[in-house]
Amino acid sequence: MAKRKSLFLSVVLFTILMILIILGCTAAKKPYDVLIKGGFLLDGSGNPWFKADVALRGERIVKIGALEEDQAKVVIDARGLVVCPGFIDIHTHCDREIAEIPRVDNYITQGVTTVIGGNCGGHPFPLKELFKKIGDKGISLNFGVLVGHNTVREEIMAMKMADPTAEEMEKMKALVEQEMKAGALGFSTGLSYLPGIYSKTAEIVELASVAARCGGFYASHIRDQGKKITEAIEEAIAVGETNKMPVVISHIKLADDSVWNELDRICLPVERARQRGVEVVLDQYPYTATSSGFTSSLPDWCFEGGKDKFLERLEDKKTYERIKDYVIERRLTSTKGIDPLDMIFIARFSNKPEYEGKNLKEILLLEGKQPTVEAGADLIIDVEKNGGASGVFFQMDEKDVENLMRLPYVMHGSDGGIQVVGKGVPHPRSYGTFPRVISRYVREKHIITLEDAVRKMTSLPAQVLRLKDRGMIKEGTFADITIFDFESFEDRATYSQPHQYSQGLAYVFVNGEMVIDRGAHTGKLPGKILKRLESD
Ligand SMILES: [Zn+2]
Repeated sequence: MAKRKSLFLSVVLFTILMILIILGCTAAKKPYDVLIKGGFLLDGSGNPWFKADVALRGERIVKIGALEEDQAKVVIDARGLVVCPGFIDIHTHCDREIAEIPRVDNYITQGVTTVIGGNCGGHPFPLKELFKKIGDKGISLNFGVLVGHNTVREEIMAMKMADPTAEEMEKMKALVEQEMKAGALGFSTGLSYLPGIYSKTAEIVELASVAARCGGFYASHIRDQGKKITEAIEEAIAVGETNKMPVVISHIKLADDSVWNELDRICLPVERARQRGVEVVLDQYPYTATSSGFTSSLPDWCFEGGKDKFLERLEDKKTYERIKDYVIERRLTSTKGIDPLDMIFIARFSNKPEYEGKNLKEILLLEGKQPTVEAGADLIIDVEKNGGASGVFFQMDEKDVENLMRLPYVMHGSDGGIQVVGKGVPHPRSYGTFPRVISRYVREKHIITLEDAVRKMTSLPAQVLRLKDRGMIKEGTFADITIFDFESFEDRATYSQPHQYSQGLAYVFVNGEMVIDRGAHTGKLPGKILKRLESD
C-alpha cells in the first residue's frame, strides 16, 4: 500500500514538473513585440558600431544580441542600416505649437524622439494647462519643458525696465517654483529678448536657485553672442556655479564678423569652469544663419512700457535717430566687407507676406529705394512698427561652426519649432538639423565621426537632462530608436525652400511604438511628457 502511494505521488510530482517545464518553455518562446535584425548598432555611448539584434517588448528594449532564431510580432530587417537611440533635441521651441500639432512631423522625420521646449526664456504659462492639453490629445514624441524667465518676469513685472522689488522677486520665485513642481526640467533665460534684457545677473541667480533646489538645470540664451560673448558666457557660468546647477549655453555661435575665428572666446571660460567643477555644456545648430524676431535688432529701452510707448518714441525725431544708429551698429555693420543687406532675410511677416523669403536689399529695390545701410535701418524699424517679423540673419563663419562641433561638450540642438508645411519661410533648422549633421558634417566634410555625432544627439543630452532610461540602446531602457541609411540620410530643407522633410530615414520607434515606418509617419502618438520631479 505504501509503495503504491509513493508511486502515485511520484507520478503527480512528475506531471507537475512537466507542466512547469512546458509553461517555462512557452514563456521563453513568447514572441517579442518587435525584433530589429541585422543592423549596425550604435548604442549612443560614442563607441564604434557592433552587429546585434534588438528586441522590444512593450515600451522597453528587453534583449540585445544574436537573436536571429527568435520570434516577434513585427520583424524589422535592418541589414545595412544604422540602428541608434532616438535623437534628443535639447533646444527647441516646440512648446508653442505642440498641443495643436501633436504629430510633430518636422522633428520625427529627422529621427528625433524627444524635444525640449521652453528655451530662450519663454514657455506657455501655466504648464499645468499645457500638460493637460497634451495629455488629452497625445503626442508622437517625448516632450519636456523649461520655465522661461521672460514669461515669469512679464507675468509679474510686465515691460518694466527696472530691478524687481522684494515683493516682485518673491512673486517671481513662487511662479518658478509652481512651474518646477508642475514638472519643468529647468530654468531658461533669453537675455537679448524682452523683458529679460532688463534684468541683472543677481535677479537671474536668485530665480535660478529655485529651479536648482528642484533639481533643474540652467539653460541660457546669453546676453551677447557677438563682441561681448566672453562676458556673456561668464555670466551664465556664474549663475550655475553659484547655484551648483548644470549650465547649458544655448545655440552657441560667434555671431558677429568681428569675433569670427576666435574660438577661445568660447572655449576658455567653459574649460576653466569645467576644471573648477562647474558642469557646463553647449548646444549648437549646424548652420551659419541665425533666426529670431526683428525686435532683437532694436535697443531694449525703446520697448519699455509696451507697444504704444514704442510707437510714441518713433514719432520723436531725435529718439528715432538714436534707434536707427543702434540698428546700424547692431545689424548693418561689417568688419569683413560683407554687405549686410544681402545677409538679412524676412522669414515670416503677416503684414506683408510678399516679403517673406526676400532679403533687405531685394525688398528695398522692390520698393524703389536705394539699397543703402540707412534705408536698411529704416526698413527694419518699419517692419517692427508694423507688427514685427521673424528674420534669418547670416552672421556666422562656417569654420567656427565646424570647430565648435568638434568640442566634446557641444551637443546638437535645432533651436527650431514645429512647422506647418507651406507656412512662412522659416529657418531650415526646424526640418534639417539632425540629418544635416550626419550628411554634411560626418559624411561629406568628416568634421566629426558618426559615433560622436550620435553621442552628441543622444547620450549627452540625456545626461544633461538626467534622463536615466533614454539616450542609449541598452537592455531595460525605453525603446526610443532611430534607424537610417547612412549613405542617403540627408536634410532637404534649404533657406529658400525650407518646407522639406529629410530623406534616408527608415524607421523610428518612440516608447516601443513605430512612428516612422519605411520613411512615413504612422500617425501614432506614443510620446510621454518628461517631468523632472517624477523622473528623480
Ligand atoms: Zn535663443
